[in-house]
Amino acid sequence: MNRPIELAAAPRILIPGPRRASPAPYVLPPLPYPENALEPVISSRALQLHYRKHHGGYVDTLNRLVSGTALADLSLSQLLLEVAGQPDQALIYNNAAQIWNHSFYWQSLSPNGAGTCPQVLRGLIEYSFGDLETLEEKVSAVAMSQFGSGWVWLVLDGKSLQVLKTSNADNPLLQGLKPLLAIDLWEHAYYPDYENRRGEYIAAILATLINWDFAADNLSVA
Ligand code: FE
Repeated sequence: MNRPIELAAAPRILIPGPRRASPAPYVLPPLPYPENALEPVISSRALQLHYRKHHGGYVDTLNRLVSGTALADLSLSQLLLEVAGQPDQALIYNNAAQIWNHSFYWQSLSPNGAGTCPQVLRGLIEYSFGDLETLEEKVSAVAMSQFGSGWVWLVLDGKSLQVLKTSNADNPLLQGLKPLLAIDLWEHAYYPDYENRRGEYIAAILATLINWDFAADNLSVA
């Protein structure tokens, strides 16, 4: 079973310890599967670049920005809340949010994805959208409507589900919503395999990789 990433805890991202002993307090979490596990939808080369260079790059940059400051003592989730909405901390916020978002994205995909949707989640999907097909159509439409870089999310909003998009590094947690799934819409996520065909990338993920079990796990701790 996949473990959801909790805003309050983010236990696998922070290495706790005294500031002086943790010059690089944030770490790149391990992928939940091998780098070639999502082929042919996401090639090994694309995934390796995305995970090591982009996700890893955000970790390296954040560590460089916060090392030796009081911010380095915070968990990733605490850090996000601390710097959100502060223009002079935008670089720290963007890198921290991108670490959180990518860790969540990798878990939103699975080599065994797009199988049976757990009953509790299916019931909520039917309550919120009518049926699973309608939800998937909405995910595709919202993803295509995002101009430029960003993310498409399935979130819990009160007692029902919503599909929404965010720009750049933004995360629905800061709107008080509970993320259940995320798909990366930055070009670096799909250009190596799909060039500019974002729609094909989204369709392939929904058809074969989307991890309903992870969404249900997140729902269970909501
Ligand atoms: Fe990305």
